[in-house]
Amino acid sequence: MKTVLIPLPKTVDLHPGACPADAPVTRRTDPALGPEAYRMELSPAGIVLTGGSDRGVLWAEQTLLQLRLGSGGALPCGVIEDEPAYPWRSFHLDCSRHFFSLQEVKKMVRAAACFKLNRLHWHISDDQGWRIESKAFPKLHEIGSQRAGDTFGNFDSHEPYGGYYTRDEVRELVTYCKELGIEVVPEIDVPGHVSAILAAYPDLSCTGAPVAVQTEGGIFPDILCAGKESVFAFLEALLDDVLELFPGDTVHIGGDEAPKTRWKECPHCQERMRQEGLENLQQLQGWFLNRVAAFLKTRDKRAVVWNEAAYGGNLDPELLLQFWFQDRDGQVRRHAEKGGQVILSPIRSAYCDYPHAAITLENVYTQDLAPEDLPAGAVLGTECLAWAEYLRTDRELERKAWPRYAASAEAGWCGPRREDFPAFQARLRELFPLFAQLGVDATEPDSWNPASPGAQAEMEAFKENFTPELMARYRSAQQDI
Ligand SMILES: [Zn+2]
Repeated sequence: MKTVLIPLPKTVDLHPGACPADAPVTRRTDPALGPEAYRMELSPAGIVLTGGSDRGVLWAEQTLLQLRLGSGGALPCGVIEDEPAYPWRSFHLDCSRHFFSLQEVKKMVRAAACFKLNRLHWHISDDQGWRIESKAFPKLHEIGSQRAGDTFGNFDSHEPYGGYYTRDEVRELVTYCKELGIEVVPEIDVPGHVSAILAAYPDLSCTGAPVAVQTEGGIFPDILCAGKESVFAFLEALLDDVLELFPGDTVHIGGDEAPKTRWKECPHCQERMRQEGLENLQQLQGWFLNRVAAFLKTRDKRAVVWNEAAYGGNLDPELLLQFWFQDRDGQVRRHAEKGGQVILSPIRSAYCDYPHAAITLENVYTQDLAPEDLPAGAVLGTECLAWAEYLRTDRELERKAWPRYAASAEAGWCGPRREDFPAFQARLRELFPLFAQLGVDATEPDSWNPASPGAQAEMEAFKENFTPELMARYRSAQQDI
C-alpha cells in the first residue's frame, strides 16, 4: 500500500499488514518533539498520534485524513515522522477589496489547515473597505465598510457595495482557526492604503480633506499624517480595540505603497522630521512604523511590515519584514544582516490572484526559500496570497488559491527536501478529490498547465482589467512611494 500526502512527510516507514479503517486513535503530546512535529504509528491494534504540542497532534490528524482519503478503507501499517522546515507558513485573504462571507473564509481556513498552513494573514483594512466592527471607532464599520460602487478593472457597477464582520463573527473565526492549528494575523495597513479609515475620520490625514472609500484599485495620495499626535492616539486605541479579538502573537501593520505626496508638503510631517532628526521621507515612514510596532510590543505583540517599510534604512530589526516587491538598495538583506527576520512572498512565486499562465503552480512550488543574498536563518517562512481586486465571487477566489496554496504549503513545510515539480504534480493529481471533499472549487489539472486552453483563456480575461490608462496611473503613483 502506498501513501499519497501533501505536504510530503519527512519519513514514511511502511510495514506489511493493514490498520483497520475503524482502528481506535490515541492522541498524546511529547514536548521532546519540535512544537509542530508529530509521529504517527499505525498498526493492526490502532493508531497513535504523538505531537510535540497540540498543534503537532492537529497536523497528524490532517495527515490521517489524507491517508484515509487515499486508501478508501483500510490504512497501511507503519510509522510516519514529520516536522516542518519553516515555522511561518501563512496564507492570505483580502476581504477588503471584495468581501467574503464568514462561511467562505472558514471554508478557506479548513482547506488551508488540511495542508498544514499555520497562519491566516487576514487583510481587513484597505482603501476599498474596513471590514471589522470597531467598538472604539464605530464610524470605521458604519462608513468605512461601504463604497459607492465596484469599478475594478473591466467591471463597472455603481451599486453600493460593502460589508463587515461583527465582533462575534471575528471571535468565531479566531476560535475556528485555533481549533485547526491556525493563528490569525490581522492586517491594519498604515500609513497608506487608508482611504476607508480616512472616509470615517478625515482629520487623520495631513490635509483633513474629505476622502471617499475607493471604488477601484490603485494607490491613493491621502495617507495618515506622521506629524499629528492624534494619529498615534487613534492607532493605539484602535489596536487595543482590535487586539481584544486577536489573541495571537503577531499583527501586520502594512507599510506598503505609501505615497509621500502629502508628507512632502505637510507642516506637521516636516516638523516631525526636524524633531526626530530624520533625513528623508522614507526615514519618516520607518519612524512611523517603528513607533506603532513599539506600542504593539508593550502589548506583547510582534509587528510585520511589507518591505517598503525598510526603504529608509531605519526600521527596527525586531519587525518582521514581508518581502513582496522591489528590494530597493538591498534593504531586505540589510534588515536581515541586522538580525531581522523575513517572510518571503515575492510576486513571482506567491501571488496566486494572478492567472496560472503568469504565476504557475511550478513557480509557487519551486519558490526559493534560501535566497543567496540573505544570511542563513533570516528566513522565517513563506506566504501565499490572493489579492481580491478582481476576485468577486467565492468560486473565483477558490480557483485562484487552490491548488497553488497547497504548493506553497509544501514548499514551507518541506523546504530543501522538496521533490521535483513533476513528482509533486503527480501526487497532487492523485489527491485532487480532496478539494471536493473540502468543498473547494480548485483549478483542475488540465487548466493549471500554463499552456492549456483554460490557462490561456484565464490570462486573456485577466489582461482585460488593465487599460493603458490604469497602468499609467499605477506607474505614476509608484514614483512617489
Ligand atoms: Zn502630515
